[in-house]
Amino acid sequence: METIKTDVVIIGAGPCGLFAVFELGLLDLKCHVVDVLDKPGGQCAEFYPEKPIYDIPGTPSCTGQELTDRLLQQIRPFDPVFHFGEMVASVEKLENGNWRLRTDQDKEFEAPVIVIAAGGGSFMPKKVTVPNAAEFEGKSLFYAVRKMENFRDKKLLIVGGGDSALDWTLNLHPLAKSTTLVHRRQDFRAAPDSVNKALSLVEQGDMSFVAGNLSQLHGENGQLEAVTIKHTEGGAETVHECDNLLVFYGLTMKLGPIADFGLNLHENRIVVDTEKFETSVPGIFAIGDINWYPGKLKLILSGFHESALMAQQAKRIAHPGQKILFQYTTTSSALVSKLGAA
Ligand code: FAD
Repeated sequence: METIKTDVVIIGAGPCGLFAVFELGLLDLKCHVVDVLDKPGGQCAEFYPEKPIYDIPGTPSCTGQELTDRLLQQIRPFDPVFHFGEMVASVEKLENGNWRLRTDQDKEFEAPVIVIAAGGGSFMPKKVTVPNAAEFEGKSLFYAVRKMENFRDKKLLIVGGGDSALDWTLNLHPLAKSTTLVHRRQDFRAAPDSVNKALSLVEQGDMSFVAGNLSQLHGENGQLEAVTIKHTEGGAETVHECDNLLVFYGLTMKLGPIADFGLNLHENRIVVDTEKFETSVPGIFAIGDINWYPGKLKLILSGFHESALMAQQAKRIAHPGQKILFQYTTTSSALVSKLGAA
């Protein structure tokens, strides 16, 4: 396994993790950013992409997705490397003083500085409550699509009524042998265009729709053969053949493996000082919603301020002995040229 060496690994690509790339970049620190989601933006992109935010300084109103897009544009000069769909699962101190991080996809990083910008923790899928579901998980029952090719020629059953369920139904339908969408009613919480496209495929007989809930899973050795669905209207149960089940019941946030990193916690949040936003372990910082200190407000602007102060100490650790000059982006020609501005 190849180890990726860098100055800073940022855990979390929410707004605070993204802005940390900017503040660290101004100080010449190169960042890799890992997020368990398949896209940047954290809560802004996941929970309220189309709702306006009114309290970003200098920006009277922008949506969650617009803020994410603007942050991505702002950090582009620093060329961060993103690793999506990966959860940082462990952190270990090396003899040379650096940290080794491993993800649940077996990727390995080595860096002198870790910045935890993990918000409320990892977004975890809400799981199927049918008793034997765990037997199939990761083998023929999935909560995310890592590789579309894995579903080629499969008898696919997709459960859920939001954007993920509808988007994956439309994307996987051309690859799959057969596609069945299951939701408790024919009333979806997804983009109207996706809903219309899916319903017209059903009308044309190209895929099936069942209004109901999963009640039983059938199969052996982790391989699904069929599921029983209890119909919403009338409560009748029908059995549907399938060899792959994709479930999109939505996401919840859990602190996850970060709880085991050996950091001091306060009510499931990481305790930091307010000078450097460093945790109880030197070299590991926490910014944004995940941290705690007296008076902390879980606001995006708090995380932006925390990023600026964190970056100063991160620089001292990553590049010891290098002098840090306090400079304004407006007047420093060195900073202006780093930003690629005129
Ligand atoms: P998050 O946005 O939570 O991002 C953290 C990221 O870390 C996530 O993408 C997660 O997947 C990832 N992650 C966690 N653990 C791991 C791990 N182990 N490995 C890999 N990745 C991991 N704030 C405002 O200032 N103004 C508002 O108007 C406002 N409105 C809001 C409206 C709603 C409906 C909600 C839910 C929140 C609102 N907030 C608002 C709060 C704001 O969204 C949060 O303060 C902000 O998102 C915190 O940013 P963050 O980067 O710290 O964390």
